Amino acid sequence: MLRTIPGFDRIGEENAFAVLARATALGAQGKDIINLGIGQPDFKTPAHIVDAAIKALRDGHHGYTPATGLVAAREAVARRTLATTGMEVSPDNIIIVPGGKVTMFAAIMIFGEPAAEILYPDPGFPIYRSMIEFTGAKPVPVPIREENGFAFSADETLALITPKTRLLILNSPANPTGGVTPRAEIEKLVKGLEAHPHVAIMSDEIYDVMTYDGEEHLSLLTFPSIRDRLIVLNGWSKTWAMTGWRMGWSIWPDQLYDKVRKLAVNCWSCVNAPSQYAGIAAIDGPQDDVEKMCRAFDNRRRIVVDGLNSLPGISCATPKGAFYAFPNVKETGWPAKQLASALLEEAGVALIGGPDFGILGEGYVRLSYANSEENILRAIERIEKFLAK
Ligand code: PLP
Repeated sequence: MLRTIPGFDRIGEENAFAVLARATALGAQGKDIINLGIGQPDFKTPAHIVDAAIKALRDGHHGYTPATGLVAAREAVARRTLATTGMEVSPDNIIIVPGGKVTMFAAIMIFGEPAAEILYPDPGFPIYRSMIEFTGAKPVPVPIREENGFAFSADETLALITPKTRLLILNSPANPTGGVTPRAEIEKLVKGLEAHPHVAIMSDEIYDVMTYDGEEHLSLLTFPSIRDRLIVLNGWSKTWAMTGWRMGWSIWPDQLYDKVRKLAVNCWSCVNAPSQYAGIAAIDGPQDDVEKMCRAFDNRRRIVVDGLNSLPGISCATPKGAFYAFPNVKETGWPAKQLASALLEEAGVALIGGPDFGILGEGYVRLSYANSEENILRAIERIEKFLAK
């Protein structure tokens, strides 16, 4: 038997990938599966972005770039950050990474050690907890409650901070709930964090463009009092429908930047050069496709919410952001994971059981509405028929 480090016995997974694999396998057997499981836009990357990557390849950009990313790519991220948050960020605080997950990995690796406590949202993106477990740090779930609009509660979050807390992970708009934390709550949280200068903050803002009903996305960057310990996770995957390109960016405070640069040199050297040129074109080019995609998500969101609320035993709060709905299925009498699995196997609808996102996910399922209106309506019909059985 080979002996590996204990972290590998604790590391978890993202069940969305397992559901995708099962849905694909069922599809290959000829079953008609409607996939509301995986969290990726169903749109193609806009053509001018693809063209920029092809041009970069033709122009001979085949080699390594600086480990932190092309200067032009980091400057583009700085321009985009100024445009969306009103905040100046130096390209020397930005690093281009192979997907948002890598920012998460770096931030958690930097702070995770057995004596540390790391706060993360529950329900939340499953990789937060998985990576915390990997490092041996203590995962401390921050409850995200339906009755609170699936937003962070400043009071509940602050009450969990101890002298051992090293990192607080925030996410708004949120996966899996679609929750958006309101300005007043973020302001209160930041005010409270000022009394805990030993706590770093990682704000996962990867869904920043996807807010609805006039809801605003408030970046944590707009609070100078925590800037020296704030890590911002963002990227191209969701906004420009580029999940397979593996392109993310993160913003790091001066005191952490060089640690991440070294991690990049050791782990991934750099993000592939053509993707970085594509990333520049995404930021600097027309945003019509992004706006079109967000409008489509907004329309589908209404269809999903109305459809789910018409079903017996299901109640669905209206998500304010991202492209997920997180309906409460407690009244159906089904445990959420079993319901998700039965819906895939028997009704041909792929979605994810809430417990895959945390303890408080029991009683909920996650639907990604990154699918056509027609398929969403068909899925609702199938769920209705299934529940009537
Ligand atoms: N953060 C959240 C909240 C996500 O939902 C995801 C992807 O689903 C990511 C980060 C990771 O994105 P990427 O594909 O860029 O690694």
